[in-house]
Amino acid sequence: MFDNLSDRLSGALKNLTGKGKINEDNIKETLREVRMALLEADVALPVVKEFIAAVKERAVGAEVGKALDPGQAFIKIVNDEMIKAMGAENDALDLNAKPPVVILLAGLQGAGKTTSAGKLSHLLINREKKSVMVASADVYRPAAIKQLETVAGEVGATFFPSTTEQKPVDIAKNAIEEARKQFADVVIIDTAGRLAVDEAMMSEISELQQAINPTETLFVVDSMTGQDAANTAKAFNDALDLSGVILTKADGDARGGAALSIRQITGKPIKFIGMGEKLDQLEPFHPERVASRILG
Ligand code: GDP
Repeated sequence: MFDNLSDRLSGALKNLTGKGKINEDNIKETLREVRMALLEADVALPVVKEFIAAVKERAVGAEVGKALDPGQAFIKIVNDEMIKAMGAENDALDLNAKPPVVILLAGLQGAGKTTSAGKLSHLLINREKKSVMVASADVYRPAAIKQLETVAGEVGATFFPSTTEQKPVDIAKNAIEEARKQFADVVIIDTAGRLAVDEAMMSEISELQQAINPTETLFVVDSMTGQDAANTAKAFNDALDLSGVILTKADGDARGGAALSIRQITGKPIKFIGMGEKLDQLEPFHPERVASRILG
Protein backbone atom coordinates (compact mmCIF):
# COMPACT_ATOMS: atom_id res chain seq x y z
CA MET A 1 0.00 0.00 0.00
CA PHE A 2 1.13 3.52 -0.78
CA ASP A 3 4.57 2.18 -1.81
CA ASN A 4 5.48 5.45 -3.37
CA LEU A 5 4.93 7.78 -0.44
CA SER A 6 8.25 7.29 1.33
CA ASP A 7 10.19 7.57 -1.93
CA ARG A 8 8.43 10.79 -2.74
CA LEU A 9 8.90 12.12 0.75
CA SER A 10 12.58 11.35 1.03
CA GLY A 11 13.25 13.74 -1.87
CA ALA A 12 10.98 16.45 -0.56
CA LEU A 13 12.27 16.13 2.99
CA LYS A 14 15.68 17.31 1.87
CA ASN A 15 14.15 20.78 1.93
CA LEU A 16 13.71 20.46 5.62
CA THR A 17 17.17 19.23 6.45
CA GLY A 18 19.19 21.59 8.55
CA LYS A 19 16.20 23.69 9.54
CA GLY A 20 15.49 24.03 13.23
CA LYS A 21 11.80 24.66 12.90
CA ILE A 22 9.12 23.69 10.43
CA ASN A 23 7.43 26.70 8.87
CA GLU A 24 4.94 27.48 6.08
CA ASP A 25 7.76 28.01 3.59
CA ASN A 26 10.03 25.06 4.15
CA ILE A 27 7.10 22.66 4.39
CA LYS A 28 5.30 23.65 1.19
CA GLU A 29 7.11 21.33 -1.19
CA THR A 30 6.92 18.43 1.24
CA LEU A 31 3.18 18.82 1.70
CA ARG A 32 2.74 18.95 -2.06
CA GLU A 33 4.50 15.60 -2.37
CA VAL A 34 2.30 14.05 0.33
CA ARG A 35 -0.76 15.40 -1.45
CA MET A 36 0.35 13.98 -4.81
CA ALA A 37 1.17 10.61 -3.30
CA LEU A 38 -2.23 10.38 -1.64
CA LEU A 39 -4.04 11.35 -4.84
CA GLU A 40 -2.06 8.77 -6.77
CA ALA A 41 -3.04 6.25 -4.12
CA ASP A 42 -6.62 7.09 -5.08
CA VAL A 43 -7.56 8.70 -1.79
CA ALA A 44 -10.72 10.77 -2.27
CA LEU A 45 -9.98 14.48 -2.75
CA PRO A 46 -11.88 15.85 0.28
CA VAL A 47 -10.08 13.31 2.45
CA VAL A 48 -6.71 14.37 1.03
CA LYS A 49 -7.46 18.02 1.74
CA GLU A 50 -8.50 17.34 5.30
CA PHE A 51 -5.46 15.17 5.91
CA ILE A 52 -3.02 17.73 4.52
CA ALA A 53 -4.63 20.47 6.58
CA ALA A 54 -4.29 18.39 9.75
CA VAL A 55 -0.63 17.59 9.05
CA LYS A 56 0.13 21.22 8.24
CA GLU A 57 -1.50 22.50 11.37
CA ARG A 58 0.53 20.19 13.55
CA ALA A 59 3.77 20.63 11.65
CA VAL A 60 4.03 24.39 11.24
CA GLY A 61 5.72 25.92 14.20
CA ALA A 62 6.67 22.56 15.62
CA GLU A 63 9.94 22.83 17.48
CA VAL A 64 12.19 20.10 16.33
CA GLY A 65 13.53 18.21 19.28
CA LYS A 66 17.25 17.57 19.75
CA ALA A 67 17.07 13.96 18.69
CA LEU A 68 14.91 14.55 15.64
CA ASP A 69 15.78 16.49 12.55
CA PRO A 70 12.89 18.32 10.84
CA GLY A 71 12.52 15.55 8.26
CA GLN A 72 12.07 12.89 10.92
CA ALA A 73 9.78 15.13 12.91
CA PHE A 74 7.64 15.67 9.85
CA ILE A 75 7.46 11.96 9.08
CA LYS A 76 6.38 11.30 12.64
CA ILE A 77 3.56 13.82 12.27
CA VAL A 78 2.42 12.26 8.98
CA ASN A 79 2.58 8.83 10.59
CA ASP A 80 0.58 9.91 13.65
CA GLU A 81 -2.05 11.67 11.56
CA MET A 82 -2.38 8.68 9.26
CA ILE A 83 -2.96 6.33 12.18
CA LYS A 84 -5.48 8.77 13.59
CA ALA A 85 -7.23 9.08 10.23
CA MET A 86 -7.50 5.31 9.91
CA GLY A 87 -8.85 4.83 13.39
CA ALA A 88 -6.19 4.74 16.12
CA GLU A 89 -6.56 1.12 17.13
CA ASN A 90 -8.14 -2.10 15.97
CA ASP A 91 -11.83 -2.36 16.73
CA ALA A 92 -12.79 -5.92 17.51
CA LEU A 93 -16.17 -7.46 16.75
CA ASP A 94 -18.70 -7.20 19.52
CA LEU A 95 -18.91 -10.82 20.59
CA ASN A 96 -20.27 -10.07 24.04
CA ALA A 97 -23.87 -9.59 22.97
CA LYS A 98 -26.43 -12.19 23.96
CA PRO A 99 -25.97 -15.17 21.63
CA PRO A 100 -26.49 -15.68 18.84
CA VAL A 101 -24.44 -12.66 17.83
CA VAL A 102 -25.87 -11.65 14.47
CA ILE A 103 -23.51 -10.32 11.79
CA LEU A 104 -25.05 -8.85 8.64
CA LEU A 105 -22.82 -8.45 5.59
CA ALA A 106 -23.62 -5.80 3.01
CA GLY A 107 -21.92 -4.62 -0.16
CA LEU A 108 -21.86 -4.68 -3.94
CA GLN A 109 -21.76 -7.89 -5.95
CA GLY A 110 -18.22 -9.16 -6.31
CA ALA A 111 -16.97 -7.15 -3.30
CA GLY A 112 -16.16 -10.39 -1.51
CA LYS A 113 -19.14 -10.84 0.83
CA THR A 114 -19.53 -14.60 0.50
CA THR A 115 -15.79 -15.16 0.73
CA SER A 116 -15.70 -12.87 3.77
CA ALA A 117 -18.57 -14.81 5.38
CA GLY A 118 -16.37 -17.91 5.05
CA LYS A 119 -13.26 -16.11 6.27
CA LEU A 120 -15.04 -14.61 9.28
CA SER A 121 -16.44 -18.04 10.15
CA HIS A 122 -12.97 -19.53 9.91
CA LEU A 123 -11.54 -16.85 12.19
CA LEU A 124 -14.35 -17.09 14.73
CA ILE A 125 -14.26 -20.89 14.81
CA ASN A 126 -10.48 -21.20 15.06
CA ARG A 127 -9.40 -18.14 17.03
CA GLU A 128 -12.43 -17.39 19.13
CA LYS A 129 -13.65 -20.99 19.47
CA LYS A 130 -17.17 -19.97 18.51
CA SER A 131 -19.78 -22.07 16.76
CA VAL A 132 -20.98 -20.33 13.63
CA MET A 133 -24.05 -20.63 11.42
CA VAL A 134 -24.25 -18.95 8.01
CA ALA A 135 -27.28 -18.15 5.86
CA SER A 136 -27.67 -16.52 2.47
CA ALA A 137 -30.39 -13.93 1.91
CA ASP A 138 -29.33 -13.53 -1.72
CA VAL A 139 -32.63 -14.53 -3.29
CA TYR A 140 -31.59 -13.41 -6.77
CA ARG A 141 -28.71 -15.75 -7.40
CA PRO A 142 -29.10 -19.45 -6.58
CA ALA A 143 -25.38 -19.78 -7.32
CA ALA A 144 -24.63 -17.42 -4.44
CA ILE A 145 -26.54 -19.62 -2.00
CA LYS A 146 -24.67 -22.67 -3.29
CA GLN A 147 -21.35 -20.82 -3.03
CA LEU A 148 -22.03 -20.03 0.64
CA GLU A 149 -22.89 -23.67 1.30
CA THR A 150 -19.56 -24.76 -0.20
CA VAL A 151 -17.60 -22.16 1.77
CA ALA A 152 -19.39 -23.13 5.00
CA GLY A 153 -18.45 -26.76 4.41
CA GLU A 154 -14.81 -25.81 3.98
CA VAL A 155 -14.55 -23.89 7.24
CA GLY A 156 -16.82 -26.00 9.43
CA ALA A 157 -19.70 -23.55 9.80
CA THR A 158 -23.29 -24.78 9.88
CA PHE A 159 -25.10 -23.85 6.68
CA PHE A 160 -28.71 -22.74 7.04
CA PRO A 161 -30.42 -23.57 3.72
CA SER A 162 -32.48 -20.97 1.87
CA THR A 163 -34.16 -20.71 -1.52
CA THR A 164 -34.76 -17.94 -4.05
CA GLU A 165 -38.53 -18.19 -3.40
CA GLN A 166 -38.16 -16.89 0.15
CA LYS A 167 -38.04 -13.32 1.38
CA PRO A 168 -34.66 -12.11 2.71
CA VAL A 169 -36.25 -11.03 6.01
CA ASP A 170 -37.82 -14.48 6.50
CA ILE A 171 -34.55 -16.25 5.72
CA ALA A 172 -32.66 -14.12 8.20
CA LYS A 173 -35.28 -14.47 10.95
CA ASN A 174 -35.51 -18.24 10.48
CA ALA A 175 -31.73 -18.57 10.50
CA ILE A 176 -31.46 -16.60 13.76
CA GLU A 177 -34.22 -18.72 15.29
CA GLU A 178 -32.46 -21.90 14.23
CA ALA A 179 -29.11 -20.61 15.53
CA ARG A 180 -30.79 -19.95 18.87
CA LYS A 181 -32.22 -23.48 18.99
CA GLN A 182 -28.85 -24.99 18.16
CA PHE A 183 -27.02 -22.74 20.64
CA ALA A 184 -24.80 -21.34 17.90
CA ASP A 185 -22.66 -18.44 19.16
CA VAL A 186 -22.71 -16.45 15.94
CA VAL A 187 -24.92 -16.29 12.86
CA ILE A 188 -23.63 -14.58 9.73
CA ILE A 189 -26.18 -13.37 7.18
CA ASP A 190 -24.86 -12.91 3.65
CA THR A 191 -26.96 -10.62 1.44
CA ALA A 192 -27.55 -9.86 -2.21
CA GLY A 193 -25.26 -7.42 -3.95
CA ARG A 194 -26.04 -5.46 -7.08
CA LEU A 195 -23.53 -4.23 -9.59
CA ALA A 196 -24.13 -0.65 -8.55
CA VAL A 197 -25.91 1.12 -5.73
CA ASP A 198 -29.63 1.25 -6.49
CA GLU A 199 -32.65 2.26 -4.47
CA ALA A 200 -34.37 -1.13 -4.47
CA MET A 201 -31.26 -2.79 -3.11
CA MET A 202 -30.76 -0.16 -0.45
CA SER A 203 -34.33 -0.33 0.80
CA GLU A 204 -34.23 -4.14 0.83
CA ILE A 205 -31.12 -4.27 2.99
CA SER A 206 -32.25 -1.43 5.18
CA GLU A 207 -35.56 -3.23 5.85
CA LEU A 208 -33.60 -6.38 6.58
CA GLN A 209 -31.40 -4.56 9.07
CA GLN A 210 -34.40 -3.04 10.82
CA ALA A 211 -36.18 -6.40 10.99
CA ILE A 212 -33.33 -8.35 12.56
CA ASN A 213 -31.40 -5.61 14.40
CA PRO A 214 -27.98 -7.28 14.02
CA THR A 215 -25.15 -6.92 16.51
CA GLU A 216 -22.78 -6.05 13.69
CA THR A 217 -23.51 -4.72 10.22
CA LEU A 218 -20.33 -4.90 8.22
CA PHE A 219 -19.89 -3.18 4.90
CA VAL A 220 -17.74 -5.33 2.60
CA VAL A 221 -15.82 -3.33 0.02
CA ASP A 222 -13.26 -4.08 -2.66
CA SER A 223 -10.21 -1.90 -1.95
CA MET A 224 -9.17 -2.07 -5.59
CA THR A 225 -12.14 0.07 -6.63
CA GLY A 226 -10.40 3.18 -5.25
CA GLN A 227 -12.54 6.31 -5.51
CA ASP A 228 -15.64 4.22 -6.23
CA ALA A 229 -15.11 2.41 -2.96
CA ALA A 230 -15.40 5.74 -1.18
CA ASN A 231 -18.63 6.63 -3.01
CA THR A 232 -20.17 3.23 -2.40
CA ALA A 233 -19.19 3.44 1.27
CA LYS A 234 -21.00 6.74 1.57
CA ALA A 235 -24.19 5.32 0.01
CA PHE A 236 -24.21 2.28 2.30
CA ASN A 237 -23.36 4.35 5.35
CA ASP A 238 -26.27 6.68 4.59
CA ALA A 239 -28.73 3.80 4.17
CA LEU A 240 -27.55 1.54 6.98
CA ASP A 241 -26.35 1.79 10.53
CA LEU A 242 -22.93 0.27 9.88
CA SER A 243 -20.79 -0.98 12.73
CA GLY A 244 -17.68 -1.50 10.64
CA VAL A 245 -16.02 -2.32 7.37
CA ILE A 246 -14.25 -5.30 5.83
CA LEU A 247 -11.77 -4.12 3.23
CA THR A 248 -11.19 -6.94 0.74
CA LYS A 249 -8.50 -7.61 -1.87
CA ALA A 250 -5.93 -5.52 -0.03
CA ASP A 251 -3.40 -8.07 -1.33
CA GLY A 252 -3.86 -6.76 -4.85
CA ASP A 253 -4.08 -3.10 -3.97
CA ALA A 254 -0.77 -1.33 -4.35
CA ARG A 255 -2.31 2.13 -4.02
CA GLY A 256 -4.16 1.62 -0.78
CA GLY A 257 -6.17 4.83 -0.81
CA ALA A 258 -9.41 3.08 0.07
CA ALA A 259 -8.54 2.46 3.73
CA LEU A 260 -8.01 6.15 4.42
CA SER A 261 -10.99 7.34 2.35
CA ILE A 262 -13.51 4.87 3.69
CA ARG A 263 -12.65 5.44 7.30
CA GLN A 264 -12.83 9.20 6.88
CA ILE A 265 -16.03 9.22 4.84
CA THR A 266 -18.02 6.76 6.95
CA GLY A 267 -16.42 7.42 10.32
CA LYS A 268 -16.74 3.66 10.87
CA PRO A 269 -13.82 1.42 11.81
CA ILE A 270 -12.24 -0.92 9.34
CA LYS A 271 -12.36 -4.15 11.32
CA PHE A 272 -10.73 -6.60 8.92
CA ILE A 273 -8.77 -6.70 5.70
CA GLY A 274 -8.91 -9.52 3.15
CA MET A 275 -5.43 -10.48 2.06
CA GLY A 276 -6.15 -13.20 -0.52
CA GLU A 277 -8.74 -15.59 -1.91
CA LYS A 278 -8.11 -18.33 0.65
CA LEU A 279 -10.45 -18.62 3.60
CA ASP A 280 -7.71 -18.10 6.19
CA GLN A 281 -6.64 -14.83 4.59
CA LEU A 282 -8.56 -12.35 6.70
CA GLU A 283 -6.69 -10.21 9.20
CA PRO A 284 -7.73 -7.73 11.87
CA PHE A 285 -7.03 -4.24 10.57
CA HIS A 286 -4.13 -2.51 12.29
CA PRO A 287 -3.84 1.14 11.25
CA GLU A 288 -0.34 1.47 12.67
CA ARG A 289 0.90 -1.40 10.51
CA VAL A 290 -0.60 0.13 7.40
CA ALA A 291 0.87 3.52 8.29
CA SER A 292 4.35 2.11 8.80
CA ARG A 293 4.09 0.24 5.52
CA ILE A 294 3.12 3.48 3.84
CA LEU A 295 6.05 5.36 5.25
CA GLY A 296 8.49 2.48 4.79
P1 GDP B 1 -19.68 -11.38 -3.38
O1 GDP B 1 -20.37 -11.27 -4.69
O2 GDP B 1 -19.61 -10.05 -2.69
O3 GDP B 1 -20.22 -12.44 -2.49
O4 GDP B 1 -18.15 -11.72 -3.72
P2 GDP B 1 -17.37 -13.12 -3.62
O5 GDP B 1 -17.19 -13.51 -2.20
O6 GDP B 1 -18.01 -14.09 -4.52
O7 GDP B 1 -15.94 -12.67 -4.16
C1 GDP B 1 -15.71 -12.21 -5.49
C2 GDP B 1 -14.30 -12.58 -5.91
O8 GDP B 1 -13.35 -11.89 -5.13
C3 GDP B 1 -13.99 -14.06 -5.74
O9 GDP B 1 -13.25 -14.49 -6.86
C4 GDP B 1 -13.13 -14.09 -4.48
O10 GDP B 1 -12.23 -15.18 -4.47
C5 GDP B 1 -12.40 -12.79 -4.58
N1 GDP B 1 -11.95 -12.27 -3.27
C6 GDP B 1 -12.69 -12.03 -2.17
N2 GDP B 1 -11.93 -11.52 -1.18
C7 GDP B 1 -10.66 -11.44 -1.66
C8 GDP B 1 -9.41 -10.99 -1.11
O11 GDP B 1 -9.27 -10.51 0.03
N3 GDP B 1 -8.31 -11.06 -1.95
C9 GDP B 1 -8.41 -11.54 -3.22
N4 GDP B 1 -7.31 -11.57 -3.96
N5 GDP B 1 -9.57 -11.97 -3.76
C10 GDP B 1 -10.68 -11.93 -2.99
